[in-house]
Amino acid sequence: MIPLPLRDFVAALERLYPPNTASSWDRVGLVSGSLDQPVSLVHFAVDPTLAVIEEAGDAGADLLITHHPLLLRGVHSVATTSAKGASVTALIVSHIALYVAHTNADVASPGVCDALASACALVDVEPLEVVDGVGHGRVGSLARPLTLHGFVQQLSTVLPKTAGGIRVAGPAGALVSRVAVVGGAGDDFFGAVRASGADVYVTADLRHHPVLEAREEARGGTPYLVDAGHWATEWLWLQSVRSELVRELGGRGTSLNTHICTLRTDPWDFVIGAATTDNTGGTS
Ligand SMILES: [Zn+2]
Repeated sequence: MIPLPLRDFVAALERLYPPNTASSWDRVGLVSGSLDQPVSLVHFAVDPTLAVIEEAGDAGADLLITHHPLLLRGVHSVATTSAKGASVTALIVSHIALYVAHTNADVASPGVCDALASACALVDVEPLEVVDGVGHGRVGSLARPLTLHGFVQQLSTVLPKTAGGIRVAGPAGALVSRVAVVGGAGDDFFGAVRASGADVYVTADLRHHPVLEAREEARGGTPYLVDAGHWATEWLWLQSVRSELVRELGGRGTSLNTHICTLRTDPWDFVIGAATTDNTGGTS
């Protein structure tokens, strides 16, 4: 079967993740490649790091689809003297097209937040907040209440492992049933999380002050907070984009080979000095 040209993949991805739903500061779409080049092997990854690009090149991938942009700010050189330049050069030398679906994939349905909601085993899922007709985040319910510890334990079995693990603010034995989720950095949504009545909020990149203030406002009660890691919460989407892309290409995509990257691009490598869980601190 003759491989489809890149233009067919770009068209399918733009139907799944319309570029006009991306945030105004974002840079999504095709980064490298020729629309006429044939695509037989597609790699999926969260981050277009040098290691990810090298893996895709070694495997002979024609298209690398990532969540995070490679080029978000002004670039004045693609010489290999910088990591960005080396990445762009490696893509071009290896004839790898790079396509980015970022904030447009966050708000898509199914998108990044749906994948995280599904990993949390939520039912009756709806947008956490709707802005200008676009749904951000998701909120839903567990089929039956779980303890906060039990809920996070269950989530940990479906998330990829990271050095930092999953951080939780809240009492381990408290029962939770309503859960809000935002994949990646989510501390802009605390107001919407409180308004949704969620017992627990699963997101990532939570910083000291926003978390401490949210816990103080909650007086030790709900919403409890779960920082499950930026890369881990977004990696879940890669299965979704793969199946949606194959479906969108219809019968024409059946000869396609795909690979979901398992290189851990979470930048942390190890942790020292974590307190034991019985050494309770915080505000709970
Ligand atoms: Zn992200």
